[in-house]
Amino acid sequence: MPESTEQTAAQIEVAAGIPEWPTAPIEQAAAPHSAEPVVDIRDVRKVYSTGAVEVEALRGVSLRVDAGEYVAIMGPSGSGKSTLMNIIGCLDLLTSGSYRLAGEDVSHMSEEDLAMVRNRRIGFVFQQFNLLSGLTAWRNVELPLTYAGVRRTERKERAVRLLERVGLGDRIDHRPTELSGGQQSRVALARALVNRPSMVLADEPTGALDSKSTADVLSVFEELNSDGHTIVLITHEADVAAHARRVVRFRDGLIESDSGAAR
Ligand code: ADP
Repeated sequence: MPESTEQTAAQIEVAAGIPEWPTAPIEQAAAPHSAEPVVDIRDVRKVYSTGAVEVEALRGVSLRVDAGEYVAIMGPSGSGKSTLMNIIGCLDLLTSGSYRLAGEDVSHMSEEDLAMVRNRRIGFVFQQFNLLSGLTAWRNVELPLTYAGVRRTERKERAVRLLERVGLGDRIDHRPTELSGGQQSRVALARALVNRPSMVLADEPTGALDSKSTADVLSVFEELNSDGHTIVLITHEADVAAHARRVVRFRDGLIESDSGAAR
């Protein structure tokens, strides 16, 4: 599905809801620096079968991302970036190989268990941001916490603190339509972080932004990474990837180059 803007049901559920998992306090905002890699993918293959035709979108990919890394995944259209993102994000199942996410083997989990892991471990930022237009910025950010049974006062406190962290302390009561594209993407980032995920997974997060907003958002990613958050960003734009500390390039379902593989 090269360049497709269609989202899977799971992606929409993830962005709009995120649920049911108790969360740790935001005070521990930096990603946990455990000895386990956040992402440990080994020899992963993904085959799509459409009628009589089989497409091998990933042809044996191994990738390790440690806690605290900031990695950009690049590659031309059709090279397998979205497929990899869906697997890393527990949005799709791999055909063969293995995937450990923060030490947990998720290779053969049921879709239901994957949904729980996804909600607990991954903060998604999609190109369209998927903010709910009827809700103010802080309500969009706190939404995942309502499903986790966190008290209202604490939810607001945490949402406001994160909005302040991404530079939107003076916009907490604004609705998405009252915010610029760059500001909307910062709200989406704050929402991605509210459940204290092991990693932020961003799919073309600057794809819908002008160059000024792009620079603005990339600087927030850099700050969050300096705070210790692990970031994996999918992009086809070289100048966006240049902001990451490590660039992994895909071609034809394989890793073509990796500027800084983990030790
Ligand atoms: P990229 O994100 O780099 O553009 P994709 O991961 O979307 O690449 O696609 C990799 C290959 O897998 C392409 O040849 C694409 O046509 C194919 N593909 C992706 N999704 C599907 C699908 N749901 N069904 C069949 N083929 C698919």
